[in-house]
Amino acid sequence: MNHPTSPYATADPALRHVIPSPFGQTPRPGLLALTACGNLAVVPATAPVHLDSDHADPDDLCPRCAAAVQDADAHPDIRPHTLCEMCEAPTRHGNLCAPCRQDAHDACTTGRPALSTIDTIRVAAAALGLPAPAVRRDLLDPSTLHVHVHLTHLDQWARWRELFDAGHGTEVNRSRYTHVPGSHAGARVVLIGHGLPALRAAARTTPQPPFGTPRT
Ligand SMILES: [Zn+2]
Ligand SMILES: [Zn+2]
Repeated sequence: MNHPTSPYATADPALRHVIPSPFGQTPRPGLLALTACGNLAVVPATAPVHLDSDHADPDDLCPRCAAAVQDADAHPDIRPHTLCEMCEAPTRHGNLCAPCRQDAHDACTTGRPALSTIDTIRVAAAALGLPAPAVRRDLLDPSTLHVHVHLTHLDQWARWRELFDAGHGTEVNRSRYTHVPGSHAGARVVLIGHGLPALRAAARTTPQPPFGTPRT
């Protein structure tokens, strides 16, 4: 085995995969990381393979990783898109998308509760009678979650803001959506409201004093 196994990995652990180092930072050993061949493998404790012209390729190097490093277009990804069972994002990783697989892998390996933060957000929303939001990880900062909500009633926006402690955040209004910073269960959240009602709500939103603040 070149990579530790995980039920959420999609790459063959018997091959050595190239794990790209975005911004020059190699992912920590034990994390489930994206490979050059477009799969997910657990980062080994030994230094992951870095290919450069000075190194001979190891015998057990994944051929698709090797090809992808030489020429990113060598093997276009033809795996079919499916919808993630957890967050409903389109994915080429089967029944779970890459961020949900990474989240579930982290939950397994760190012993934190099996319900991912994304799941607890969906449960909390359902408990308040709000429709299930689409939750995505920020691509550059995976500890931040983007919660996309589609509003059908004006009063939903206030309830979403309350759920994510976004009461004091400053809304930024774009032409098609409104977003506001918040948090949930310790995770940073950006709440993003879509739909005409959101825009109407945003248009008439004026900064409100926190609850309990005496009005003068
Ligand atoms: Zn590979
Ligand atoms: Zn997902």
